[in-house]
Amino acid sequence: IRISFSAIVKDTGFINGYIAVLHDVTEQEKVDNERREFVANVSHELRTPLTSMKSYIEALQDGAYKDEVLATKFLGVTRDETDRMSRLVEDLLQLSRMDNDAEEISRELVDFNSFLNRIVDRFEMSHKDTVTFIRTFPDEAIFTEIALDKMMQVLDNVITNAIKYSNNTDKRVEIRLRQNKLYNRLTLQIKDNGLGIPAGKINRIFDRFYRVDKGRARKMGGTGLGLAISKEIIEAHEGKIWASSIETEGTSIYINLPIMNIDEDDWDD
Ligand code: ADP
Repeated sequence: IRISFSAIVKDTGFINGYIAVLHDVTEQEKVDNERREFVANVSHELRTPLTSMKSYIEALQDGAYKDEVLATKFLGVTRDETDRMSRLVEDLLQLSRMDNDAEEISRELVDFNSFLNRIVDRFEMSHKDTVTFIRTFPDEAIFTEIALDKMMQVLDNVITNAIKYSNNTDKRVEIRLRQNKLYNRLTLQIKDNGLGIPAGKINRIFDRFYRVDKGRARKMGGTGLGLAISKEIIEAHEGKIWASSIETEGTSIYINLPIMNIDEDDWDD
């Protein structure tokens, strides 16, 4: 802690008192360290695809372009790496917009119940033969004010992770929604039967670029920013997001959000 003093001087020139200000240097240092670490991470994440692309392009230049099969394969890899870089840059831009509070989130009043049902319907369609979705939803509408596209991004990310981080041939994703009318909050649980996360690492999965298994996560094409972005979005909605997990058994992601106390009869009018 650093302490600085300043004198309060009256019009007459006499000193009236002093103000002592305590600066929390450790907090500032922490922020500086985090920023340094972030920049190092970004550089590393961008350098990896660049290095890979360069070596494939060199191989093509050295003659691989003459072999149609090989050339197609190498160009495919290069293309994938550019896609990865684009995703990364998009995610970084989104985080930076949220950091600056430059982005106004415009919210709409929706029934979260049907909103979520539609998203799960979409997943069910695209993973018909590989994943079983089990829904436990209340019968009634749950009204919330949310930024639809942002909330959709969060749910896409969490449900995609639930499917992605599982070796299981019998993948199950359970989605539970309930409301607490007393506190005007809803809680959503997205539970998978996948790899799980070791106890000591669970709190870190919302950190930027944190991955439990770096190699695996990269292969899956993720940027390591999905949950960090999700957390920012949920917090911008006065909500909370957290995880619980048992290694090798599965993971649950919980999202808690404020709801509007609206009588459904009023809504129908
Ligand atoms: P990405 O998936 O792009 O790596 P995320 O921010 O979405 O980045 O997730 C961060 C990390 O958290 C993942 O790399 C993975 O290790 C872990 N993780 C997230 N969701 C799950 C899940 N449902 N089961 C197991 N691990 C998960």
